[in-house]
Amino acid sequence: MARLVMKFGGTSVANIERIRNVARHVKREIDEGHEVAVVVSAMSGKTNELVGWVNEANKHYDPREYDAVVASGEQVTSGLLAIVLQEMGIPARSWQGWQIPIETNDAHGSARIARIDGARVIEGFGRREVAVVAGFQGVDPLSGRVSTLGRGGSDTSAVAVAAALHADRCDIYTDVDGVYTTDPRIVPKARRLDRIAFEEMLEMASLGAKVLQVRSVEMAMVHGVQTFVRSSFDDPANPRPGTLICNEEDIVEEQVVTGIAFSKDEAQITLRKVADKPGVAAAIFQPLAQANINVDMIIQVASDDSTTDITFTVPTAEFDRARAILEKAKDEIGFSTLQASTDVVKISAIGVGMRSHTGVAADAFRALARKGINIRAITTSEIKFSVLIDAAYTELAVRTLHSLYGLDKA
Ligand code: ADP
Ligand code: ASP
Ligand code: MG
Repeated sequence: MARLVMKFGGTSVANIERIRNVARHVKREIDEGHEVAVVVSAMSGKTNELVGWVNEANKHYDPREYDAVVASGEQVTSGLLAIVLQEMGIPARSWQGWQIPIETNDAHGSARIARIDGARVIEGFGRREVAVVAGFQGVDPLSGRVSTLGRGGSDTSAVAVAAALHADRCDIYTDVDGVYTTDPRIVPKARRLDRIAFEEMLEMASLGAKVLQVRSVEMAMVHGVQTFVRSSFDDPANPRPGTLICNEEDIVEEQVVTGIAFSKDEAQITLRKVADKPGVAAAIFQPLAQANINVDMIIQVASDDSTTDITFTVPTAEFDRARAILEKAKDEIGFSTLQASTDVVKISAIGVGMRSHTGVAADAFRALARKGINIRAITTSEIKFSVLIDAAYTELAVRTLHSLYGLDKA
C-alpha cells in the first residue's frame, strides 16, 4: 500500500464527464489498495472568468476580496468530485483550504503556504475515505480569511499536501502526457522527457513553461517529493507514467540543452541618453526595487557623447507602475526619453549540461541572426541563457533553437 496525492488541472475537470473520468483514475489507485488524497483545480476558464469579474467590479480591488471570489472555483470542483466518487461507491469527502487547514501568510493573491496539518485527512484514510482537497486556496490563520496561492497554484497545493502527508508520490495529471522539451502546442516536434532535473524544471517554470507552478517545483525539491507530470486523458485502466522530476544524478541521458521556454510576460523599457556617471543605475533601479518591481534583463549601451542607453525588462503586470515611477524620477535620473514595448518575448534555453560546455549561447545568437531575428537583450547564468526579441518571432525563434540543440523528435 502506498500513499498518493493525485492532482487534476482545469481541463481535466472541465465538465461532469471529465470529472467522472478523473474519478476512474482515482478508483484505479483505490482498487490497488492505496490511500489517496486528490487535489483539484477549478474548471478550465473558471478562474479567468472570476478574475475578470473582480477587475470589472473595481480595478483597484481589495486583495482579500479578490481571494474570496477566485477561491470559489476550486470549492465547486472538489465538491463535485466527492459526489461522483461517492456515486461510484468510493467513500470521499471534500476539503477546502481552511478546513484542512492549509495555513498561508497574508500575501493575498500570491500567498505562500506556511504549514499544513494532515491529521484530518489521515483520519479519513483510516475510514478508507478519499480526501478531495480544493487546490489553489488556503487560510491566513491570523485573520481567518481565505487566501490564494497565485495562478497555477494548485500544483503547489498538491506538492505541499504530499509533503505534509509524507506521501510516496505526487502525480500531477494535466492535458499533456508529461514535460516536453518545449511547449508541444508551439512546437509539434517537441519530445516528451522521461525525466527532468529539479533545477532544470525550476528554470523552465520560472522562464515561462506553465506546466508546473514554480513554487511547486521548489517545494518538491526541498521536501524530496517524488513528483510525476502525466496525462489525465490516458485510459484510466492503462495509464502511462509521464515525466519524473528528479535529482540531476538520476538522469542517465544528458544533453547540453534540455528545454526551451518562452515568456510574453515581460515588457521592455529603454531610457535614452542617461548620463554615464556613477550613481545613475542606483537612481533608476532603487525606486523600482522599493516598489517591489522585479527587474530582469539589463543592458547598457554607451555612446560617444558621454551618455548611455539603459534597457531592462519588468513583468508586464508591473509595466504601467514602473513607467510612472521612472517618469516621476526623470529629473533625478536625467534621461532624455523613455521608450517602451510590450511586444517582446523572452526565449530561454535551459540545461544542466551548460555548466560544462562553452559557446552554447553564441551558437544561438548566430542561428537567430541567420533567421533575421534581432536580439534586444541577453542574460546568461550557470544553466540557462535568455534572449529578448520581438514577439512576432516567438514561434520561429523557439523552433530554431529547438532544432539547433538537437531536441526535435526523430
Ligand atoms: P493544468 O490546467 O492541468 O494545470 P496548465 O495549462 O497549467 O494545465 O499546464 C499544462 C500546459 O502547459 C500544457 O497544455 C502545455 O501547453 C503547457 N506547456 C508549456 N510548456 C510545456 C512543456 N515544456 N511541457 C509540457 N507542457 C508545457
Ligand atoms: N485555478 C487556478 C488558476 O487557474 C489554480 C490552478 O489551476 O492551478 O490559476
Ligand atoms: Mg496549471
